Parts: sequence; C-alpha cells; structure tokens
Amino acid sequence: MTLPETSRAVVFDGVPRTFEPCDIPLPLPVEGEWLVRVVAMTVCGSDRHTWEGRRQGPIPTVLGHEMIGDIVAGGAGCAGHDRRGRPIEVGCRVTWAIVAACGRCPACMNGYPQKCTGGVKYGHERAVGRRALTGGLAEYCLLAPGTCVVVLDEALPITVACPANCATATVAGAIRACGEIDGAKLGIVGAGMLGLTACAFATTSGARVIVAEPDAARRRRALAFGAVAAFHPDQWASGVAGSLDAVIEVSGTNAGFLAALPALRVGGTMILVGSVSPSHDVPVSLEGIVRRCLSIRGLHNYRPDDLIAAVEFLERHHGRYPFAELVSEWFPLSDTTGAFTAAADSACIRVGVRP
Ligand SMILES: [Zn+2]
Ligand SMILES: [Zn+2]
Repeated sequence: MTLPETSRAVVFDGVPRTFEPCDIPLPLPVEGEWLVRVVAMTVCGSDRHTWEGRRQGPIPTVLGHEMIGDIVAGGAGCAGHDRRGRPIEVGCRVTWAIVAACGRCPACMNGYPQKCTGGVKYGHERAVGRRALTGGLAEYCLLAPGTCVVVLDEALPITVACPANCATATVAGAIRACGEIDGAKLGIVGAGMLGLTACAFATTSGARVIVAEPDAARRRRALAFGAVAAFHPDQWASGVAGSLDAVIEVSGTNAGFLAALPALRVGGTMILVGSVSPSHDVPVSLEGIVRRCLSIRGLHNYRPDDLIAAVEFLERHHGRYPFAELVSEWFPLSDTTGAFTAAADSACIRVGVRP
C-alpha cells in the first residue's frame, strides 16, 4: 500500500468553537510505533469542553481520542501479538489506550499508567513534530511506543467499537474499583454515555442497577441498557436511602455526589468518575463518612487491563443492548464544526466523525 505524503487534519488552536483544516506531513513509524488510518471517531464530552473553552489543554492540537483505526505501517519490533495475545500486523483493525505510558515513572510504577508523567495522551498533545498526528480528527494517527493496542473482532460494528477506548474502558475501570458486584445493589447517577454503558456492564457482571437521571428519555434508555429501575434524582434519593452497596457517579455534578452519599449502606463504596471540569467545593460531613465506614474513590481514565475488559465486554454483550443507537449522527472531517455543534444538543449521546 502506498501512503500519501500528508494527512488531512483539523486543528484546534485555542480560539473557542473554531477548527482549522490543514495537511500534516505523514510520519513513517520508527521502532515501537504503528501508523494507523483513522476509521472513525466519536466526540467525547472532554473534546467538546476543550473546543468550547471550558477546559484548557496544550495547543495547537488535534482533538479526538475515542477512535478506532486500521494499521497501515509498523516500525521495527512492532509485529507480534497484541495485549490479548492476538496476532497484530498491517491490516488489523485496532483500538488503543488513551495514554501511551513509559512504564518507569512513579505513576506507572504505582499502577496508574494513565497518569504517566512522560506519556503520550491521544487527542491531548501539542500537534508538533512526531506528536502532530495523535488525535482522531485526522486521516492518520501515529501510535507511540508503549501504547496498549488491542486488535478488534471484525464483527464488532464501528459505532459500537469507537467509544471502547474512553467511555467503555473508563466504565470498566469504575466497575473494577467497586470490587465484587455480583449480586450487589448498584446505583448509577447519570445516564449519558458512561452511565448507560455502566448499566449494561454492571448488569452483565451480576449487579442490580438503579439509576438516577433527571431526563425522562435517558431514564427509558437506562432500562434498555439493563437497569432494573430508573428514577428522577429526587425520588431516587428517598427510594434507595442507605441501601446501595456501591454508587458510580457519572453525572459530574455536585448534586449527584450529594444525592449519592446518603444512598450508600454502611460500608458502601462510591466511585467518582464524572467530575472532570472545575466545580465549586461541596459541603460534606466527615463524621458521616467515618461513622458509616464509607469508601469514596476518584477514577480518571483507566489502565490497559480495563481497555481489554471493555473490548471483551463489547464483543460478548453488545448485541444484548442498543449500543449502536447511541451514535445518532456521523459527519465527515470537513464538517467537524457541525459534529461538535450537534454533540452539544442534550438529546444527543454521541456523534461521530469519519475522515
Ligand atoms: Zn473521552
Ligand atoms: Zn510513566
């Protein structure tokens, strides 16, 4: 296969709600790197927050990290097997972890490779030199050494596979952080992409899921994704008070946290996932946490084993739940602005971009 000399890309340079189309020289992969042709990308909430100016990141940048691609070239030492032991070579369809970790820094050594101080974070890098093509809003993406790459089953629909390396893998990490949930009564606060995925993931892990969500359409969706019940947050708080073994908070709101705290039983666990942009401080009774023996944990991004769990969950169970309906519209790279504008509609769970 002959590769072009440049890759079409869409660059965000810090001016809110603007994108700049450009052509970036296509790098040839060196040792440990794969070059991937981007097949599709779904717009994650954090992409939109950056584009709208609510979240600061390195600029200029090629946004987009929820993506899948086909391998078109590999550097020396790349061929062999992926993290699941499957053969990996040019032509394979793949997903990959959002952070390529060094494996040696304190964060890596402590089991938080997603916080690697020397890592490459896809869709979050300054678009210069060999990191110019590391986002999904481009025709090609260069995978850095240390990236956990996972070969996908060809039968997995693009729409279902795209969110695997952000939404689904983060949910896998949150469920891991809950501990054993088989037979547990689990609360999920918020029924967007993460919450709906968590409903299905937790249900297939044996939990009984009870959702809090203000939007009626999202509550109906939560039931289709396996929740046994879904309530408005006010009713939810009174209905489940003191009874939940664990809660996964994905609404990212202070109200969501404050509603979830009294919902936990003695010894219960709360996993905070949704709060990824600045908010006001929350008044909390420390005595209440101590006397009720609660555990409260934050989770940001995920580990490579969570990505593998996510892919295996989607491959095994996606047919049981309407995952394919969650991406409501696809846009070409030339209309990325249209995609991000559509993604801001609260009725929308995900929109996608296909280069
Ligand atoms: Zn994301
Ligand atoms: Zn590291």
